[in-house]
Amino acid sequence: NPAKIDKIVSLCKRRGFIFQSSEIYGGLNGCWDYGPVGVELKRNLKNYWWRCMTQLRDDVVGLESSILMNRAVWKASGHETTFSDPMVDCKTSKRRFRADQLDYSECGQKPSKTPSTCGGELTQPRNFNLMFKTYVGPVEDESAITYLRPETAQGMFVQFRNVLEVSRKKLPFGIAQIGKAFRNEINPRNFTFRSREFELMEVEYFCRPEQGFELLEYWLEERLKFYDSIGINRKQIHVREIPEKDRAFYSKKTYDLEFEFPFGVQELEGIAYRTDYDLIQHQKVSGKPLDYFDEETKQKFVPHVVEPAAGVDRTTLALICAAYDEEAVTDEKGGTETRIVLRFHPRMAPVKCGVFPLLKNKPELVGKAREVCDLLRPHLAIFYDEAGAIGRRYRRQDEIGTPFGVTIDFDTLGEKGPDLKETVTLRDRDSMKQERVKIQDLPARLLAAIR
Ligand code: ATP
Repeated sequence: NPAKIDKIVSLCKRRGFIFQSSEIYGGLNGCWDYGPVGVELKRNLKNYWWRCMTQLRDDVVGLESSILMNRAVWKASGHETTFSDPMVDCKTSKRRFRADQLDYSECGQKPSKTPSTCGGELTQPRNFNLMFKTYVGPVEDESAITYLRPETAQGMFVQFRNVLEVSRKKLPFGIAQIGKAFRNEINPRNFTFRSREFELMEVEYFCRPEQGFELLEYWLEERLKFYDSIGINRKQIHVREIPEKDRAFYSKKTYDLEFEFPFGVQELEGIAYRTDYDLIQHQKVSGKPLDYFDEETKQKFVPHVVEPAAGVDRTTLALICAAYDEEAVTDEKGGTETRIVLRFHPRMAPVKCGVFPLLKNKPELVGKAREVCDLLRPHLAIFYDEAGAIGRRYRRQDEIGTPFGVTIDFDTLGEKGPDLKETVTLRDRDSMKQERVKIQDLPARLLAAIR
């Protein structure tokens, strides 16, 4: 459904989820900025992933490694020679394309055609390294070259021994990291789906060699549960086992979790059994031991690794796509209008509750609404709005996916008698049902729904 993505892109800009980077200068291809509600959504995702991976488990600890690392890391890992995509040039339009994605790309001159059907003459594929090269220090010579990391994994491999020693973990155990990664993609496209600067959430899970395949299945299940718990259910995820010819050369088995984006079914996360390839490489090139001593069996060996690697930006986009809905509703004059609503899982929603005084020119209502804000603010993200008709204020919150709305009206002040005094209307985003709730019960009631 290609029209859906256009609507989502425009909603994202209009409501402050995602803007083009450097927009006033015409943008920078493959780079995006997250606006006020986008940054909250993305943070909710990262914080929840972090909590699930580290705080709620005994066997995974965190790390934050630097983006710039010694160039030797990228030589040892193989990225310097093999982290590339095949690229072809079109001699007619002078554009470049990823050779394995010609069927999904647009011809530069005839947008309705692909580079393989437009009749342009294509060169043979050549390899194009995706790492951004840069210089460290004041002298721009060969010895100062390094790269912006294209994945966070290598930081975890090269710190394996330090983390093992300080955490005193036994196998199997993992290291988790969230951080920026950079890839000079040949054709950034599909909104934030393929960006040049993006964020990853990765776990390197170290185990005994004989546990690799079994733990790959374990992590597949864990990750499907995770997506379910943030509002992307199993039916929306396609699990694809990657055939050997398409797998990274060091991987013995890999699953891709794919999501039905409006522009097609595409990868959200890769879960790879990376064997002992990376640790062995770093051990060989650095000359430092990266092995593990098993107290029980008195054996020394280099652990194997299973890696669930998810894209923060792709998951954020998937959350928005999965949540996006339109429905016909009756407007104030009895006609019909379209209600756009993002049905985020309350856990992910950027704002949890809107707080609205019924009228803005009644100081008693505004004062009471401010009190409700003060009561809720320490517990959850709220948005106070007093401008415009109440229906319009609800709609604005629907468009950013706020699961609850609280309205302070004359009943709250006790004008209909003592029974309703200190109660508010609580509106549910999805059913649009309204009920009367005591102000003092609000924090517990809302917290129960968003945790
Ligand atoms: P693709 O085949 O789409 O280029 P990949 O297989 O190279 O992706 P991995 O190296 O497995 O991707 O990266 C792990 C995860 O990082 C992906 O599942 C995806 O969510 C995310 N990711 C990778 N490249 C990008 C990108 N250019 N922009 C946004 N997210 C990305």
